[in-house]
Amino acid sequence: MFKAVDLIYPRRCPVCDGIIAPFRFKEGHIITGDLIHGQCLPKIKRVKGSVCLKCGKPLKREEQDEEYCVDCKKYRHVFERGFSLFVYRSVAGSIYRFKYLGRQEYAEFYARVAAKSYGKRLKKLGIEAIIPVPMYAGKERKRGYNQAQVLAKALSKELGIECYDNVIKRVVNTRPMKELDAIGRRNNLKKAFNIAQNDVKFKCILIIDDIYTTGSTIDEIAHEFLMAGVEKAYFLTLAIGQTT
Ligand SMILES: [Zn+2]
Ligand SMILES: [Zn+2]
Repeated sequence: MFKAVDLIYPRRCPVCDGIIAPFRFKEGHIITGDLIHGQCLPKIKRVKGSVCLKCGKPLKREEQDEEYCVDCKKYRHVFERGFSLFVYRSVAGSIYRFKYLGRQEYAEFYARVAAKSYGKRLKKLGIEAIIPVPMYAGKERKRGYNQAQVLAKALSKELGIECYDNVIKRVVNTRPMKELDAIGRRNNLKKAFNIAQNDVKFKCILIIDDIYTTGSTIDEIAHEFLMAGVEKAYFLTLAIGQTT
């Protein structure tokens, strides 16, 4: 549906951040414009080809015959399996604006790509609940929104699977992960999350985050849910890097 607000705050392209025509005419009716410029679409790289069967990272040329990436061979993850949409380098700017500059509208485009790429598969896996990685409350107030939650809600709409954004909470304001190495990241997250309900009714969940790096955040959340009776925790992130 075309809304008047689109004229005041026109939608921005998730690739170049230029304005996208807020509406166009189709068979004599005004309809909402596109979610991305047609010419910008080829500039972002989707994750495809051979990927790690655990974390979903694209495998390097010399790893093509392997099942798992070097990181997943070294470390045993708690989560079942992960899916990512884009190669990190090609969407770094987009994710930065989505996270820090208020471009929440990008979520609609991201969610649509997610549904097209993995929708059928996720439904087949029996995902019952979409869970965004929670943000510490004070931090969320300061930033105004939690980008993982915005994405999770958009995806929930696309897939018709319920999003639960209040089951797990981040109870410790952890240090920014980019300042830490892999071991530091894991220690940093000990007791950082807390499940707020006594009985978690679902058995199969999909955790949503923006970027997958070492997987420590997702593992920590998956661990909490497994302790609460969930049997399988999958994840979906916007972007993932190459193996390190
Ligand atoms: Zn564009
Ligand atoms: Zn992997």
